[in-house]
Amino acid sequence: MSMFWADELLANVKGPQIINDSWTPSGMVHMGSLKGPVIHDTLFQILKERKQKVKFIYGFDDADPIDGLPADLQTSHGKYLGIPLYLAPAPSGKGSFADYFADKMKSLLSTLNIKPEIYKTSELYNNGTFNKAIQFVLDNADQVRRVYSNIYQKEIAKDWFPLQVVCPKCGKVGTTKVTGWNGKEVAFSCEETLVKWAKGCGFNEKISPFDGKSKMPWKVEWAAKWWTFGVTIEGAGKDHASAGGSYDVALKICREVFAKEPPLQFAYEFFLTGGKKMSSSKGLGLTGEELLEVLPPELVRFLMVKTKINQAVNFDPYEPTTIPRLFDEYDKENPSKKMRFSDVVNLLQMPGKEKELEREDVKARVPYAKIWLDKFAPEEEKFTVKEEFPEAALHLSALQKMFLAKVAGELMKNWQAEDFQANLYNWAKELEISSKEAFSAIYLSLIGKDHGPKAAWLILSLDRGFVKKRFSEI
Ligand SMILES: [Zn+2]
Repeated sequence: MSMFWADELLANVKGPQIINDSWTPSGMVHMGSLKGPVIHDTLFQILKERKQKVKFIYGFDDADPIDGLPADLQTSHGKYLGIPLYLAPAPSGKGSFADYFADKMKSLLSTLNIKPEIYKTSELYNNGTFNKAIQFVLDNADQVRRVYSNIYQKEIAKDWFPLQVVCPKCGKVGTTKVTGWNGKEVAFSCEETLVKWAKGCGFNEKISPFDGKSKMPWKVEWAAKWWTFGVTIEGAGKDHASAGGSYDVALKICREVFAKEPPLQFAYEFFLTGGKKMSSSKGLGLTGEELLEVLPPELVRFLMVKTKINQAVNFDPYEPTTIPRLFDEYDKENPSKKMRFSDVVNLLQMPGKEKELEREDVKARVPYAKIWLDKFAPEEEKFTVKEEFPEAALHLSALQKMFLAKVAGELMKNWQAEDFQANLYNWAKELEISSKEAFSAIYLSLIGKDHGPKAAWLILSLDRGFVKKRFSEI
């Protein structure tokens, strides 16, 4: 597949590269959350093909505090608001809150054949990897304040430090404020009203900020990762990438505080459903798991990279042509001998096609065609060729019966679907029956409905003897 945007993006990328992407494991994986991993992996694969030295790391930002909860967890997990994700229990009760959601993402990545080196941000704090960065941002707190002050156009107080402590008393990180740094310890207070979503315990003390006892604010942490790992490529979703957004702040902190050239930057757009931005909270759009039930992994990847990444992709599976058309587009870009998706859909609905459905070029698409029929197909695309004479066809008019007899008489010739379709119209005309009546006779006697898929294709896909018998039975 030709991915111009990726080639364009990497045109001037020379030498060894480290690609980073990360995700906060605080809830269900929305399908849009798969776009980052797919895009970064695409770049990784291209650089590997070019024989460039390249590493792809993917982080779970599990040291972030729980700052909101889905409705079903508000009662059970309300008391954990403000606690780092990796220190709160899983909704299932087994393992941590962060691991519960990270495991879901991991399994989706593996289904998509994306294999980055995975790390947890909590480990970077706990094993001391981030100690150097913590010391650095505390020593250079003034520069961080200056970056914030320039971006937000307001004075940042001298007693604000780019760090939060995990309160040794109540375990919350979201509620603490660091107010001083003497080179060894930070002074902090756990505040009742610092944030709206969690209440601190009022404790204050001096404490060493190292080895997992503290956390940098997210935007500073992002830059700290680039500095610590030497990240050279990382994009961001468009919601983070606006001017003054977190990506922008991180890039400035990287350049102006850490004095490091920031990674190659790019922003990618989201999915739209019928023009609306997808959001799992509003019930629009699918989860990552649902998306991978509806589409095979290679189609999911295709969907995420087929258009320029800065263009929003409209993906509304409930729109009848969305999924069949996506398969057609994919087949055009990736020619193979696979059966066309719409043909698999039709085949599935015809009797006696079990053998064909087992064929190598058909088999893999059958589960997806089944799900499409079940969940998304419009009524007019659904049909079952009736094994027995359908009751709905008992009241055909004399003219309709004559028409079917005519078709039955011509059936055994060697037909091409287009010609046969044209002839169906001609025969109706000859018998002076409206084409609407004529075609509904065909559909009623085969599938028990007065409309259906293109008649010639339907008839020619069936056993001719079966159709002949059916059309003459009347
Ligand atoms: Zn506290």
